[in-house]
Amino acid sequence: MNDISVFPVRAFQDNYIWTLRRGGNAAVVDPGDARPVLAYLHAETLQLVAILNTHHHADHVGGNAELLEHCKVPVYGPFDERIPAVSRRLREGDRFALQEFGIEFAVFEIPGHTKSHIAFYGGGMLFCGDTLFACGCGRLFEGTPRQMHDSLAKLAVLPDATRVYCGHEYTLSNIRFAKAAEAGNPELAKWERTASALRARDEPTLPSTIGREKAANPFLRCDQPGVIAAASQHAGKALTDPVSVLGAIRDWKNNF
Ligand code: ZN
Ligand code: FE
Repeated sequence: MNDISVFPVRAFQDNYIWTLRRGGNAAVVDPGDARPVLAYLHAETLQLVAILNTHHHADHVGGNAELLEHCKVPVYGPFDERIPAVSRRLREGDRFALQEFGIEFAVFEIPGHTKSHIAFYGGGMLFCGDTLFACGCGRLFEGTPRQMHDSLAKLAVLPDATRVYCGHEYTLSNIRFAKAAEAGNPELAKWERTASALRARDEPTLPSTIGREKAANPFLRCDQPGVIAAASQHAGKALTDPVSVLGAIRDWKNNF
């Protein structure tokens, strides 16, 4: 398993199409656009063997059809008719092997950003689409604060060293918001320095880790006094439970 590498194929403004590589084989997570994937596969002489989709948004599945024209590969994704090309629909607790990578993924249902959003966990890696971002979380397009809270809690119990591969490069703007949502957290200034240096060199700030997210991400820290106080102040009333706190800081972030 150690010989798997993961390369960020960039798409659109700030999407990452995470590409697993082992030998001459490749698997892509959330190919919103086929063109940069095909260019990368060609340049590196890689054979595509699988497509994984976390959720139905076009910037994550828009390249499925064109990739399938070039290579007939299985497409793993959630039970959601809005992703037509999925050949293997997955739900909570399902597992599947990618033989070419000697790896098995476990599937988590993590609704909140969308109602059918899933994550893939295996080999010490988590592919979590637009639910958990580095130092943030996705917008609640189809879900409730309760769902997002429970989905994030499900991911937070994974081992601290788990590498977190998110769908977008949002880290710096998320850290800027986190500094407002938990001003007293010293992890944020440290992370901002390292992330800024990476971005200055046009390098990804990802993957993150579960350990770092638990230490810095306000959406995973809705039970912390600093986050509760800031959320309450923003909401103009005393918030007492983590779900209300998450809802308040998600609303706040939407207009930050
Ligand atoms: Zn999305
Ligand atoms: Fe997205």
